[in-house]
Amino acid sequence: MQCPRCGKSLSTVRVGSLETDICHSCAGIWFDRFELSKVDEAHEVLGEFLLEELAPHDRLLVATSSRLRCPRDTDVVMMRRRFSPEQPIMIDECPACGGVWLDADELSAIRALSES
Ligand SMILES: [Zn+2]
Ligand SMILES: [Zn+2]
Repeated sequence: MQCPRCGKSLSTVRVGSLETDICHSCAGIWFDRFELSKVDEAHEVLGEFLLEELAPHDRLLVATSSRLRCPRDTDVVMMRRRFSPEQPIMIDECPACGGVWLDADELSAIRALSES
């Protein structure tokens, strides 16, 4: 799959039971449907491993307000929405496959907010 943000190839990364796709150029990360729920709270240790995987990568950003196409359904434009009513972080979600794209540092921000 190609990165929806910058167009580079995504690398599959497996941590525990979770398989995600990471962009080495912009440190974005793709979650298939329901996968994000395994790591979106601070006590979920798999998320720590994922953040370690992302840490060394570049963060070549790029405006994050533009609409993205789903890396799986490349003709589908993803929806932007708040992660949750309590959290102002905007995520990109595919209306076709239910996958979610997080830009660099959004995962750590979501996990940090889950503690409060
Ligand atoms: Zn990228
Ligand atoms: Zn999709």
